[in-house]
Amino acid sequence: MRKKIVAGNWKMNCDLDEGQKLTSEIVNMLKDEKINDVNVVLNPPFPHLHLVNKLIQGVSRVFLGAQNCSDKNSGAYTGEISASMLKSFAASYVILGHSERREYFGETNALLTEKVKRALENGLKPIFCCGEPLEIRESGDHESYVTQQLTESLFGFSEEEIKNIVIAYEPIWAIGTGKTASSDQAQEMHASIRKHIASKFGREVAEGISILYGGSCKPDNAKEIFSKQDVDGGLIGGASLKSRDFVEIIKSF
Ligand code: PGA
Repeated sequence: MRKKIVAGNWKMNCDLDEGQKLTSEIVNMLKDEKINDVNVVLNPPFPHLHLVNKLIQGVSRVFLGAQNCSDKNSGAYTGEISASMLKSFAASYVILGHSERREYFGETNALLTEKVKRALENGLKPIFCCGEPLEIRESGDHESYVTQQLTESLFGFSEEEIKNIVIAYEPIWAIGTGKTASSDQAQEMHASIRKHIASKFGREVAEGISILYGGSCKPDNAKEIFSKQDVDGGLIGGASLKSRDFVEIIKSF
């Protein structure tokens, strides 16, 4: 049985009070609801990590994550945050390779290999993002585009390492646009990703890897998308900033 995961990516949103309020609301709702076997990951901006960690204590199945980490271990890298720091702040997950990091901060597949290494060395589970831009989708090359991202960043890892990685498929044309991939489009790509992982690491390993969908996932489409065989959850941006919507999405399983 693969782990079901719903991860909230707050991106660069929320000041201290807003982050506290959002987390408290989510935690209180989750305490009241019967959440089946879904792991919830909150990925706030770095300054919130400590407080969010305090607020989620004692709530089962809720984990802390970050949105990025450095490819370096420590030292004179002003403004960077290391994987070991995140671990010491009780993070369990770290989002890596989000399309916004790739596009605005020039993150390449090769750099992401290094970041994934640092995360794994420090006991963090990377939520590795992949996904194609609109022109690639329209050209019909989306599957080879995404499988190449995976090959270049992840195929140097061992079987044991890959088992600790979560993959998030996020078509760039669906992120923050309100235009979601259809559940069939999601399923098609997720199946293709799983097949590609199997071609390198074997069927059994591939069957155990959680693949999340991201891109305008909302309470009114989550159930349909999550019902697909190879969709194991979601990476939620905008809707993770609204406690009620986020909890509704979690309950969609
Ligand atoms: P969105 O963002 O849900 O706002 O489309 C998803 C993401 O970028 O992770």
